[in-house]
Amino acid sequence: MKLTGKTVLVTGASRGIGKGIAQTLAQAGANIAFTYVSSVEKANAFEQELIASGVKAKGYQSNAADFNEAEKLVDEIVKEFGSLDVLVNNAGITRDTLLMRMSEQQWDDVLDTNLKSAFAMTKAAMKPMMKAKAGSIINITSVVGITGNAGQANYAASKAGMIGLTKSVAKELGSRNIRCNAIAPGFIETEMTDTLAAEVKAEWIKGIPLKRGGKPEDVAKCVLFLASDDSEYISGQTINVCGGMVM
Ligand code: NAP
Repeated sequence: MKLTGKTVLVTGASRGIGKGIAQTLAQAGANIAFTYVSSVEKANAFEQELIASGVKAKGYQSNAADFNEAEKLVDEIVKEFGSLDVLVNNAGITRDTLLMRMSEQQWDDVLDTNLKSAFAMTKAAMKPMMKAKAGSIINITSVVGITGNAGQANYAASKAGMIGLTKSVAKELGSRNIRCNAIAPGFIETEMTDTLAAEVKAEWIKGIPLKRGGKPEDVAKCVLFLASDDSEYISGQTINVCGGMVM
C-alpha cells in the first residue's frame, strides 16, 4: 500500500478520470478528499463506496472556477483529515467550437475551470505542504495542450497553460521537497468524450498506435506513480498517457 495514511485531494472526481484516480489511490491506501460541482447524488454514492473500501473519504461540492473557494476547501480538508499530501488538479470542461464562433464566455469558462483552478488550488495546497516539507502536485492536462486542436483553442490554451504552471511550480517549490508533474491523457473514454460522434471517435482511434481509447484506470496508474515515493526524483515533467498517439 504505497499511500497508506496519506491524504489526497482529487478535484472533479464524481465521474470519469477523476473517479478512476480516486479509486486507484484509495486502493493504494490513501484517504480521499474529492470535489464535484453538480453531481450531488453520484458524489454521495462515491463517497460511500470509498468509505466502504476501508479508507477515510469525503466529497466536497466546490466550484473549481471560483478562486475564493480553494483556500476554504483546503482549510476544511486539513481540519478534517489532518494533512494534505497529494493534490490532483483534474476538474476540467470543454466548450468546443471554431475560433470564429467562440464567445468570450466560452473562453473564460474553460480557462477559469481548467487553468485558474489549478493556480488557486496549488496556491492553497502549498501552505500545508510547505509546513510538512513534502508534497506531490499532479496536473491533468491533455495531449491537445501539446499539439493544439482545431475547435479547441480555449481548451488547448488552458491545457498548455497547465504545463507551464507545472514547470514553474516544480522550480519554485522543489527546494521545499514539493514535486509538481503533469499527465497528458490522449483519448480517454468518459462522459467528456461520449459527446463525440462515432466517426470522430473512430478517426481518433485510427491514429493511436495501441488501437484503443484509454480508460480512466490507465491515467490513474500513472497518477499513483507520481503521487508515491516511487517517483521521488521526478518533478516538472509531463507524461503522455495516450497509447502512443503523441510522441
Ligand atoms: P468528465 O467525465 O466530464 O468529468 C469531469 C469531472 O470534473 C466531473 O467530476 C465534474 O463534476 C468535474 N467538474 C467539472 N467542472 C467542475 C468545476 N467547475 N468544479 C469542480 N468540478 C468540476 O471529464 P473527464 O473526461 O473525466 O476529464 C477529466 C480531466 O481529464 C479534465 O481535466 C480533462 O480536460 C482531462 N482530459 C480528458 C481527456 C478525455 O479524453 N476524457 C483527455 C485529456 C484530458 P460534476 O460531475 O459535478 O459535473
